[in-house]
Amino acid sequence: VTTDTAASPAAGPRDRPGGLPPCLYCAGTDYDLLFDGVEDRLRHAPGRWSYWRCRGCGSAILAPHPKAEDLAAFYPPVYSFRLSLGGESRLRRLLARLEYGIFFGPQYAAQARAVLRATGWRGERGLRLLDVGCGQGLRLRAFRRRGFEVVGTDLQPEVVDHVKSQLGVEAVCAEVGDLPRLFPPASFDLVTAFFLLEHIPDVAGALRDIRAVLKPGGWFAAAVPVIDGLQARVFGKRWINVSEAPRHLSIPSREGLRRVFERQRFDSVSFRPDSALNCAGMIGASLLPGAALTHAYGGRAGAMALRFLAGAAVLLSVPWILVENYVLRRPGLVVVFGRRPPEGGR
Ligand SMILES: [Zn+2]
Repeated sequence: VTTDTAASPAAGPRDRPGGLPPCLYCAGTDYDLLFDGVEDRLRHAPGRWSYWRCRGCGSAILAPHPKAEDLAAFYPPVYSFRLSLGGESRLRRLLARLEYGIFFGPQYAAQARAVLRATGWRGERGLRLLDVGCGQGLRLRAFRRRGFEVVGTDLQPEVVDHVKSQLGVEAVCAEVGDLPRLFPPASFDLVTAFFLLEHIPDVAGALRDIRAVLKPGGWFAAAVPVIDGLQARVFGKRWINVSEAPRHLSIPSREGLRRVFERQRFDSVSFRPDSALNCAGMIGASLLPGAALTHAYGGRAGAMALRFLAGAAVLLSVPWILVENYVLRRPGLVVVFGRRPPEGGR
């Protein structure tokens, strides 16, 4: 039992809850309470949660820490964006198209461009890309337009069927741990995982499995919210990535990410801010939690109007995001890059 003092203004000294695992990023075991009394912004998972900050690397870890078999129950049926969300309603269909055109489409294109810049590839054709947790495959389409041969994995069979039949993209229903069994070693030039690491219980194991399917000299790019950005400080436990408890099992710091990448033998570890639109999206969602996708497209009265307002807040906050990301260099969402060393390396 540790006694923590002056860990955060939100809480006084507290005992570390039993069952908190070693830090998912640096394996440290000393924690200070960071946020207490956190509730699910979607009101889907009942209960109150807290986040504890690792003294070793600054990453935040969720407590009580759920068991792997409990995780599926935390996810509502509508969780990530897809074009078919509009369903039968003309208004919702229009809003889904508008959201895609203004927000998601440009975001995916920016993410593909950022990956190309960071890896130094210049429009080579036929590079093989695996996206882990590909969802509806809309981001994969952005990479395919830039010449990649793309493969996706997702946990949901119906999502995988959609990606295969509608986009003609190779896709497999799989968890990260299945990758070394599904693909021969050294199959891919690039593996991407957008907003995956914060959801999984074994980050180091995931990196090990991803490295196994990367070619020597290949890159892993992971987009993830970070706890050492300005947004976490400004919004505290109202920040969408904190009130995403209990689905966010952790929110790493950049230092934690660096350590876990290096421990799993990635080199050239670097960070870039995620797309400005997506970073701004976090502000809109933190200000107006009632505008969540789940609510707006789940049919809750008034949520559509709120989502429209949140959209306006997102666009208005883009200039501020550019300051946060490029002047102050404290982005709330980053893409972390690591390379499997070329042959001859370790
Ligand atoms: Zn740590």
